[in-house]
Amino acid sequence: MTVSWSMKPSDWIEISHIVQRAGIPAMVAFARDTKATARQPIRYATFFLRGGWAGLPPATSAPAPRDNARRPANHCGHADCDPVTRTREIEHDNGLRTLERCPDCHPASKGQAA
Ligand SMILES: [Zn+2]
Repeated sequence: MTVSWSMKPSDWIEISHIVQRAGIPAMVAFARDTKATARQPIRYATFFLRGGWAGLPPATSAPAPRDNARRPANHCGHADCDPVTRTREIEHDNGLRTLERCPDCHPASKGQAA
């Protein structure tokens, strides 16, 4: 998309503040959505500035940690599965509990499933 970036210095200052606060990806996403729904061709970047960039929420400073980062590699994530030994405590019908290799992520179980 091509738009004119000619605007007043005060607009540039405002945009630079928005870039720092909301981040360029959010601004691009907004501009793309706006263009997709606009009835007329958008010729000026100030259209986005007036239309909603100023209202973009602040970008989170740090990306949310992903689940995978918090548990060991290849762990199945099952609540009963020990992430170190990769065994699960299984309670049998007769009340006995035994530790069994996790069928999903124990190294010895790899390649046997399905
Ligand atoms: Zn497991």
